[in-house]
Amino acid sequence: MKRTAIFPGSFSPFTIGHKSIIDRALPLFDKIIIAIGINSEKDKYFSIEERMQWIKNVYHNNSKIQIDFYEGLTVDFCKKMNANYILRGLRDSHDFKFEKNIAQMNNDLNNKIETIFLITPPEISHISSTIIRDIIKNGGDVSKFIPKEISI
Ligand code: ADP
Repeated sequence: MKRTAIFPGSFSPFTIGHKSIIDRALPLFDKIIIAIGINSEKDKYFSIEERMQWIKNVYHNNSKIQIDFYEGLTVDFCKKMNANYILRGLRDSHDFKFEKNIAQMNNDLNNKIETIFLITPPEISHISSTIIRDIIKNGGDVSKFIPKEISI
């Protein structure tokens, strides 16, 4: 059976933090589906189309990467896509606390689903989409925090 992982997130915007997790997970899976979750009430600053296009710019020539979006429960999207793994990044203990409960709940909802965590490299663990968005809103330069293929 193919090893398929969903990498769910808001990606608002996609950062070098997200890219680091995906690039390091690529050897572990046959396919990674980067999935923009649109069920949350989180920031609507960037459109789904815009976010999908940025990610396409980064991974357009990688056949192991698929880009999609979904509404509803992540475990339901996993089932639909035949994916048994959820990929997430961990920056610090705050991420761990939050992610632990979600991973356990997702496994409770569907015991075929395992969440795989990769720890972020220390030099980029301060990067978050929320902070990047604030810098953009205030006219700052974020080019070093986002992949070079993306221009915002
Ligand atoms: P969410 O809206 O679910 O928090 P994000 O788009 O912020 O999603 O992030 C998606 C995933 O990427 C999460 O697992 C998050 O921990 C991870 N991530 C975000 N920024 C970084 C970073 N700088 N280093 C490592 N992982 C990160």
